[in-house]
Amino acid sequence: MKVVHTEGHRRHDPKVETYLGLPLPANEVPARADAIRDALVADGGFELVDPQGHGAGPILSVHDPGLVRFLEEAWPAVQEQAIDREFLVADTYPTRGMFQGMSDEFVASRPETRAVGGRAGWWGLDSSNPIVAGTYVAARWAVDVALTTVDLVLGGETAAYGLCRPPGHHAAAAMAGGYCFFNNAAVAAQAIVDATGERVAILDVDVHHGNGTQQIFWRREDVLYASLHADPLRLYPFFLGYADEVGEGPGRGANLNFPQPLRADDATYLADLDRALERIAAEPGSIVVVSLGFDTFHLDPIGDLALTTEGYHEMGRRVAALGRRLVIVQEGGYHVPALGGNARAWLRGAEGRHFGGA
Ligand SMILES: [Zn+2]
Repeated sequence: MKVVHTEGHRRHDPKVETYLGLPLPANEVPARADAIRDALVADGGFELVDPQGHGAGPILSVHDPGLVRFLEEAWPAVQEQAIDREFLVADTYPTRGMFQGMSDEFVASRPETRAVGGRAGWWGLDSSNPIVAGTYVAARWAVDVALTTVDLVLGGETAAYGLCRPPGHHAAAAMAGGYCFFNNAAVAAQAIVDATGERVAILDVDVHHGNGTQQIFWRREDVLYASLHADPLRLYPFFLGYADEVGEGPGRGANLNFPQPLRADDATYLADLDRALERIAAEPGSIVVVSLGFDTFHLDPIGDLALTTEGYHEMGRRVAALGRRLVIVQEGGYHVPALGGNARAWLRGAEGRHFGGA
């Protein structure tokens, strides 16, 4: 299988994130992508491919131009502040209570502030999403990785894997968050729709609900979103990801959430995976975008499910058994020592190769 990869991800190199207001060592770090790359190279069955630049156009087909502008301007604006800081996060967010009782029109007329700290809240979901000097460049690379993966599949590959970093599925049309800046999977899905005119399904198997992907395609019938994730009653992003979120308007019925119980094991998870795959199989279309996360792993420091490396092999096998072409993009997964083996197992399963051996 071809693996799209670039060292460009390294430009996004946060050392610290905040969790519940406390500074902690960052989880979403370059070592994650290194571990996956190294394991796939060592396997011998994967071929690394450089991404091609696709410009900002495909990003703007799913994202608000204001988000792109903010991410591009954020670090230079931080530097102008002359505050000695390693990363930017917001301390003020325009949350629902601030505008209670005010009309939608009035709220929509409120300006994006000029202060970079305020803008970070305007365009951000949470305070655990540090922006550093190279964040914008790396996020642009991640989109190009996803789009090059699309190109490979449109060019005839049965499946291809984009080693995207930073991840993307929490990024909504007008919002970054959850270690995500641009929604790589959503940009990829839109590019497939634009190139083929076909319907596309996105299967999201990260431990977190892909609120951004759901938001972007909420009213769309041509992009089906199906997600398995930890119940948001327990885990980020808390406010979306429930089973009764089915889409609205033309998109009604094209959004499926499968919240998982605490410590869900391979058997529990794979039973719901089969339900999601059944729904995808009932939909026309020839390509599935997979938002692939390994934070469902039993040792993941921020997830709370209990999948195993063998489970990932089986998951890859079942997804490939759909008989659709696969654009696989990397999302989360934070237990770095096992990341490479887990990615290798999943992708080998998807290729119909055995769990171990050659
Ligand atoms: Zn995640």
